[in-house]
Amino acid sequence: MNFLRFSDLCAQGQARGRRVFIRADLNVPQDDQGRITEDTRIRACLPCIRMALDAGAAVMVSSHLGRPTEGHLTAADSLAPVAQRLGQLLERPVRLQAHWLEGVEVEAGDLVLLENCRAHPGEKKNDETLSRRMAALCDIYVNDAFGTAHRAEATTHGMARFAPIACAGPLLAAEIDALSRALSQPRRPLVAIVGGSKVSTKLSLLHNLADKVDRLIVGGGIANTFMKAAGLPIGKSLAEPDLVDQARSVMAAMKARGAEVPIPSDVVVVKALAADAPASLKPASEVADDDLILDIGPHTTARLADLLKTAGTIVWNGPVGVFEYPAFSQGTAGIARAIAGSNAFSIAGGGDTLAAIAQFGIEKEVGYISTGGGAFLEVLEGKLLPAFDILQKRAAG
Ligand code: ADP
Ligand code: MG
Repeated sequence: MNFLRFSDLCAQGQARGRRVFIRADLNVPQDDQGRITEDTRIRACLPCIRMALDAGAAVMVSSHLGRPTEGHLTAADSLAPVAQRLGQLLERPVRLQAHWLEGVEVEAGDLVLLENCRAHPGEKKNDETLSRRMAALCDIYVNDAFGTAHRAEATTHGMARFAPIACAGPLLAAEIDALSRALSQPRRPLVAIVGGSKVSTKLSLLHNLADKVDRLIVGGGIANTFMKAAGLPIGKSLAEPDLVDQARSVMAAMKARGAEVPIPSDVVVVKALAADAPASLKPASEVADDDLILDIGPHTTARLADLLKTAGTIVWNGPVGVFEYPAFSQGTAGIARAIAGSNAFSIAGGGDTLAAIAQFGIEKEVGYISTGGGAFLEVLEGKLLPAFDILQKRAAG
C-alpha cells in the first residue's frame, strides 16, 4: 500500500515551522466522574505528537470522545481530562481550545489540543464545507487514528482530501504495515483463529478469510454453530441455528482448498453459566441436551496448538471460550501460549482478544497487537478502510 508517511516528512525536514494537524483517537473510557479509567489510546498517540514537536512543527491535535450531539458540546464530552493526562505524559501543559474552526494560534514547537471534533455539525457526515474549513487550518494533515479509520468523517477522510499534504502518522502506518504483512504477502501457511460469541457478527470476516487462509480455526460460540453444522449435539450452547448453512458454506470453501475447519473433539460444559458452576469435560459427541459448551477441551487445544506451531503467519480475533471465568479459560490460555511460542508473525485484534492477551501476559510475544476493534475487523473482512483509501489516492497524486 503506497501512502505518505509523516515520519518520512519529518526526517526530510518538511515539518519544520509547518502547521501540523494530527487526527488522533483519544476516545478513552471514563468513569461516572469523567476520570480516565484506561489511557492506552493516549499513550499510543505519543510517538506521533513527539515526532511532530521534535520536527519543529506547530502542532494541533484533535479527537472525538464519546458520542456528543453535533452542535452541542457538553462538559461530559469535553477533552479536558485528556488534555490533562496528555500533559502529564508529555511533561508539559497542554492547552485545550474549545472553538477552533475560526482559526488556531499555535507557534512552532508548541502544542494545542482542539476540542472534541465530533461536536461540529457535519463531522459524521464528512461534510465537504466543514472538511475544507478544517483542512485550511494546516499545512500537513496527519491521520494517526486507526480506531476510526473505518469511518469516513470530516477529520478522518474529508480533511485528507483537502489538506495541502495528507499522510499517515506512525501508529496508522504501523497498523497498515502489520495488516499488509499478515494478509497481502503472508508467510505461509497463514492460519486464522476466529472466536468470540456470535457467527452473525463475524460472518463476512469468516467468508473472506476462508478465501485467503490455509487454515481457519473457529472457537467459542462461533465453533458451536460449526459443531451443529457438522452434525454434533450442542445442547443449550450459544449458537445461531439460522447460520448453520453459512457455516457449512465456509467449511465447503475451506475444503475446496484442501483444508478442513477443525471441529472441537472435546469440550468443557456446565448446566448453567456461573463462576462456581461445576464444569465437566466431555467428548464433543456426548454433549447433553441441557449442557452449555463454554470452552474447548485439552485434546482440541493440543490439536489447535499443533496447527499454530507450523504456521508462518497467524491472525487472531476472538477468544475460544468464556475466558473471563477461570474454569473456562484453559482453551484460550492454550491458544495464547501456542501463539506466544510460535515463530510465526502474529497479529491480533478485538476488544475481548486484547483483554485475553493481557490476562495471559503474552503482549510481548504477539507480533502486532492492533489498536482498532471495528477497523481491524473490517480489514479482515476484506474492506479497504476510507482513511487508508484517501491517503493512497493522495499519494497517487
Ligand atoms: P472480540 O471482542 O475479541 O472480537 P467477541 O466480542 O466476538 O471477541 O467475543 C468475546 C466473547 O465471547 C467473550 O465475552 C467470551 O466470553 C464469549 N465466548 C467465548 N466462547 C463462548 C462460548 N462457548 N459461549 C458463549 N460465549 C462465549
Ligand atoms: Mg468483543
